[in-house]
Amino acid sequence: MPSATLNGVRSLTNNKDPAAPGNSVFNVMPSDSERIHNLTNLDPPYPSESLTFLRTLRAQRDIDSNVSTTPEQARLKLEITIVGAGLGGIATAIALARRGHSVLILEQAPELGEVGAGIQIPPNSGRLLRKWGVSKHLQKSAVQPESINFRRWQDGSVIGYTDLGSEFKTLYEEPYQVVHRAHFHDALYQRAVELGVKVKLNSRVVEYDAEGAAVVLEDGSIVKSDLVIAADGVKSVARSLIHPQGNHEPRLSGFAAYRATVDVSKMRSDPEIAQIIERPSLNIWIGEDRHIMTYTIAGGNSFNMVLSHKDLSDPSTWVQESAVENMKKEFSGWDPKLIILGDAAHAMLPYMSEGAAMAVEDGAAIAVAINRLHSTKELRFALKTFEVERIKRSGDMVDASAINGILWHFADGPEQQARDAAMRAEVEGRSFSSSANQWSDPVTQNWAYGYDAEKAMQDAWDQAVSDLIAERV
Ligand SMILES: Cc1cc2nc3c(=O)[nH]c(=O)nc-3n(C[C@H](O)[C@H](O)[C@H](O)COP(=O)(O)OP(=O)(O)OC[C@H]3O[C@@H](n4cnc5c(N)ncnc54)[C@H](O)[C@@H]3O)c2cc1C
Repeated sequence: MPSATLNGVRSLTNNKDPAAPGNSVFNVMPSDSERIHNLTNLDPPYPSESLTFLRTLRAQRDIDSNVSTTPEQARLKLEITIVGAGLGGIATAIALARRGHSVLILEQAPELGEVGAGIQIPPNSGRLLRKWGVSKHLQKSAVQPESINFRRWQDGSVIGYTDLGSEFKTLYEEPYQVVHRAHFHDALYQRAVELGVKVKLNSRVVEYDAEGAAVVLEDGSIVKSDLVIAADGVKSVARSLIHPQGNHEPRLSGFAAYRATVDVSKMRSDPEIAQIIERPSLNIWIGEDRHIMTYTIAGGNSFNMVLSHKDLSDPSTWVQESAVENMKKEFSGWDPKLIILGDAAHAMLPYMSEGAAMAVEDGAAIAVAINRLHSTKELRFALKTFEVERIKRSGDMVDASAINGILWHFADGPEQQARDAAMRAEVEGRSFSSSANQWSDPVTQNWAYGYDAEKAMQDAWDQAVSDLIAERV
């Protein structure tokens, strides 16, 4: 396909008849910027390592300058309804709209916004957000921590250390970022509007017609489309449609979190506290059944704290944990025109700080999965392929989050001592090939942050297509 465009350019420029309508050399020659774009984005027209070098340079320039890249446009442009304008719903809308789909988001709330405090944007979602042109809207508010420091609950001594400096940024082509949820949400919303996404507030969906790809709103009106994506959060109504027999109620994790933000200027006067905010870092104090996580957000002006502890008393407002062990089963009755994603599909303990990142990846993946359709009849195949890839990825992240919940919360004793010893090399700046700290452990780190949701989905798609062809011959 790329060479077709280049050939096209050649045949046009070879046309020597300046009298032919619209064929003056000035009309048919691509502009300099078009030619450079073609050369640096398409298959090389001649053998060249220098061109490969130039492409890498250009790609880096695009990353540095926040330029959103233009993706391959969807063959079949669909009308898509997304239920829920949370982080997952809007991210998915962006992923779909930039490929040419027409997207309408229905949100039950009377106004848009995110409550709560900080959220981390790891590179696996940050790379997508940059490519999608969201990062420019985050520039003023996002903070790039230099490190993640695990500290002993008793005295704050550093027992685990993940370097997020230049080596990390180069390796994952994106910094680790932390931001206020409201700023993140606003950045997504701004980009979605730029791409023509429509958001309808006060629109609570009360019924889904999965076969007809339609939803019924509280006021009785019906919205029809080609595909419905429910990003309706941990208390998802759509989830029960996808798996009618299962238990869909969010389940208590046994942990709860207090979240708070403090004005950084008020903290500077206390020298003991001031040292924590001296450099932008994530600090996590870990101890038996409790941890405290802190980092600065809002351009460094606000100090975010999450205090997690055992608590069964207040499940409805600030515990987000659903029946994760049923997650894979929940997808078994997948319907061709209705899918769920984000917390609706895989709410998890927040201990890998990857819940919203998984929703961003879901959005990237669904956009790729439906990009090559010729007809809506192929939706079932595309959504099945999406399902298999995303269940694996998000299911593994659910498990990784649960593992952090065990590792961090050891009581003082032999297990705690063994864990701290297994993280000592990174604290002392010695080289290490494994760590009990999942954020530092090279294998886990690369799996978490090196994952390219679009490429993984494309590979899964290609594999599914060749499997299908093999089945039929
Ligand atoms: C303490 C804590 C810390 C976290 N930290 C991180 C982190 O650092 N990094 C990270 O990536 N993730 C983190 N997460 C996870 C992250 O917050 C969630 O995974 C993410 O917000 C889920 O987004 P969502 O769009 O799927 O769902 P939601 O944000 O719940 O959005 C659902 C939307 O759907 C709307 N809706 C629901 N039902 C209907 C209906 N019937 N009709 C119309 N609209 C409807 C709701 O009003 C809402 O706007 C954390 C979670 C917690 C609890």
